[in-house]
Amino acid sequence: MAVPKRKTSPHRRGNRRSHDSLRVEAFHECGNCGELKRPHNMCPACGHYNGRLIMEPKGL
Ligand SMILES: [Zn+2]
Repeated sequence: MAVPKRKTSPHRRGNRRSHDSLRVEAFHECGNCGELKRPHNMCPACGHYNGRLIMEPKGL
């Protein structure tokens, strides 16, 4: 079985993991209310998607 010759140092381990973090990819303004929303998702503020009302917004 192939086995690493050296133990991975904490520095190298950190370098490897430097790209592992998750992040929110993008936000766009809602065409209806201008609130920031995820693209291809219904706007959570006004419940609109693609210019149509999908769901009544909460608290109204
Ligand atoms: Zn909206």
